[in-house]
Parts: sequence; structure tokens; C-alpha cells
Amino acid sequence: MTCVDLTLQEAHEERLRLLLARTDGTEAAAYVLLGANKIARDPWTGRRRLRLVSHEVVPIFERDIISSDACHISWRTDGFIALIARAKREGLVPAIVHTHPSGAAGFSEQDDRNEPGLHQIVMNRNGPDMPLASLLLSGGTMWSGRVWMDRGAPIPFDHVSLVGRRFRQIRPAFSDGALDSTLDRQVRMFGPEANAVLRGLRVAVVGCGGTGSAVAMLLARLGVGGLVLLDKDIVEVSNLNRLHGATRVDADAMCAKADVVAASIASMGLGVRAVPICQWVDHPDARDALKACDVVFGCTDDHGGRMLLDRYARFYCVPVIDVGLAIEPRPEGGFAEMSARVTVLVDGAPCLVCRGVVDGRAAAEEALKRADPAEYDRRKREAYVRGGGDPAPAVVTCTTQAAAMAVDELLQGITDFRGEGGWAWNRVRRLDRGIERKPGAVQRAGCGICGDPMIVGRGDVEPFLDRVS
Ligand SMILES: [Zn+2]
Ligand SMILES: [Zn+2]
Repeated sequence: MTCVDLTLQEAHEERLRLLLARTDGTEAAAYVLLGANKIARDPWTGRRRLRLVSHEVVPIFERDIISSDACHISWRTDGFIALIARAKREGLVPAIVHTHPSGAAGFSEQDDRNEPGLHQIVMNRNGPDMPLASLLLSGGTMWSGRVWMDRGAPIPFDHVSLVGRRFRQIRPAFSDGALDSTLDRQVRMFGPEANAVLRGLRVAVVGCGGTGSAVAMLLARLGVGGLVLLDKDIVEVSNLNRLHGATRVDADAMCAKADVVAASIASMGLGVRAVPICQWVDHPDARDALKACDVVFGCTDDHGGRMLLDRYARFYCVPVIDVGLAIEPRPEGGFAEMSARVTVLVDGAPCLVCRGVVDGRAAAEEALKRADPAEYDRRKREAYVRGGGDPAPAVVTCTTQAAAMAVDELLQGITDFRGEGGWAWNRVRRLDRGIERKPGAVQRAGCGICGDPMIVGRGDVEPFLDRVS
């Protein structure tokens, strides 16, 4: 059976709660258009998964409500017909939303009788494999839901995630109730709920170098349930000064970094399922695994990979925590720059292009270097491309500190332990001075990444992320 989950944008969740609030204790209803994220093979279970993400809230007007009381609601279906026509045109999944003001968490028998008819209308008009989602808000705060598909019984959501300034998850997928004593000391800091959320998380670490290997190890020790480790590189002797989990034997055997980090995590015996994928992030083989994740850490140092993840964060409403390290020694001694940067990418946050962290020209040059090294070298000789220069300085204390900052930001998004009201979009720590800043950024008018609401929660489109490579 397909496994189904739902991501609600925080702003949509707030809007729905406002739209559906009634002072007289009667039920209320609305629609949502959802982006579809179809995963042919989940990296942990091997099963098919459908992840739905909120793209737009569509109100049902008061005049269309036929009747409602404390335990039922009915409304005219003209609006529903218009909704599914739009869903068909734009490749979206229609959803109905209703409330149980009494707090009854499950769907009622009346719901069970009505919804198959609505799904039949969807199948008649949009095609026999078109699903209908049904979201339920119980007692004004508790979200649950299900999906009607394939003419069978409805499939309940495995979990519901709320994504925005913070990350919340209802009913974590891997929640096994009895977390073992390895995480006891952590419970004493964040309480049992945070542990359950961490256990339910599926996280991708893109880039398993100095920073990425440290991020992966920290996530495993925090008890994150599922990890995907993405990197095509192999371990070299020059990495051993900072690559957590790697040994000289790995370098001599030219083992893949992703394999080495995954093996090291498996040997911890913490029940963390780490899946290595020895591929670049833009490769189709990495796509399902990336789309299966709740949070992604961007630990690459290339412009193209970062731009891809920035778009991914917005299309799928999956927070990307991007990590960067800048170390620039001065010839006369000391450092012009020695800082770690952690940037959260999600709807509402400026993108890395608007922040001046990545640029399109550098991304194009990297793509050329990979696809056609001879042409890249020719252009470099003729100074058409800028070239990489010497390898950047890298020290394990710096890469590991950047990793700890990034993983702390995830904890901040889940627990708000800093009491700051969710994530800082951007945090820069001067490592040689112990100073931390949160530099802002101006979103460029009409930015194609962070200024286009139409891509947010859009889910699958052809080509992937609407990128032409
Ligand atoms: Zn109901
Ligand atoms: Zn932007």
C-alpha cells in the first residue's frame, strides 16, 4: 500500500484555522490545492510514497453552505467542480477540509458516506488515478487526514508536518514509543516530544565532506530516524584531517565518502537507518531520496548544488539548512575572513542568490567543468571562466563547528530552545572572534526563486523544479 503524508505551510495552516473558526460550535469547511510529490521508491522502506504539500487555500463562501451544525456540514458543489478543473489544468491534487469542533479526532460515518461520492466526481473528471485528499481539523488545533485513491479504502496520513518559521510534526513516522536509554540524557534537555520528532525525521545530508560528515554524525547521535547521505566523491588522504568516520584504509581503497559515513553510523548501533547514495544531488538517481526527506542539510561547496536545493526547498516546502565556511588567511598573518554561515531556506526566507552567496555564472561554469572538462580548461586558459584556484583551507574544528551550528538550527526549529520564535534565516559566526551576527538580505523584486509564490508547494513538475539544465 502507498504511504501518504502531508506538509502544510505554516501560513496556510494559520489561514485555515482562521477561516474555519466558528463561535457557535458548528462545523466549517474549505478547500486546499495540494502539490503532489510522488516517490516511486522510498529509500528506507522501498515502498511507494505520496507526499502532499499545500499550495493554495481556497475558501468556501458562506452563501455556498447549505446547512451546518455541531456534527455535520454540507455545501454546494459548484465550487468543488471549479476546484477540480483547476487541479486538472495545473497538475494539483484537490483537498476538502472540514472541522470537528467537538474535538472528535476521527472521520465520522457521515464523512465515510460522503467522501467516496466526491472522489468519484474527481475520477470522472480528472482521470481514474486522481486522488482526493480530506483534511480534518479537530478541536481547533489537531490536524489529521486521509487520501482517497485507487478506488480502495482511504489511506490515512502517516504524519502531518507544519513548515514555516519552525518545523512541527504530528505523529512521526518512525515513532516507536519506547526510545531506548541512549537518548535519556537528551530527554532531560528537550523533553520526550522532541526525541519523538527527531526519531520520526528523515533527513538528507547533501555533501559528505568535512562539514557534511560531521552533520551526519551529529544527526545520528541525536537519534534522527532516517538519513540519506549524498556524495559522489571518494575519500582521499587529504580529507582525513576532517572527514568524520573515515580512515586511511578507506582512502587507500578509494571508498565513497557516503558509504564510509553510512557504515560509521551503522556501527554506532543507535537504530539510525542511513542510506548512502554515491551520486551528485542533481542526478536523477538521487531524486526520490531527496524528495522523501523532511529536512535537508546543504553541505556542498558548489553553486549549482546550492541553487538546486534552494528551489527544492520552495517547490516541496522542505526546509534546507545550508552550511558554508569561509576562511581567508591574510598574507601578512591573521585572517581576513574566518566564519561559518548557516542559512535556512524555506518559503519566506531570502534565497542564496538574493543573499549573494551563489551566482548563476559560477553554477554554469561548474556544470561545464563536469560535463566537458576539456572545454572548461580551454575557456579557463582564455580567461572566460574563473577557475577554482588552490584548495581552500580546511580545519576539522572549523568544519565541525559549522556542522554543530547547522544541527543546532534544526533543534531550534523543532524546540525553540533559544526562545527566539523559530529559525534565524541566516546566522554567521566569526570563528576567530566568537561573534555571531544574523545578517539580513533584500529579496530582489521578481526573484525567480524566493519571489515567486506560484512555485511554493508546487510539488512535482516537468522538468524537475522547472529547471532547464
Ligand atoms: Zn466530519
Ligand atoms: Zn531570491
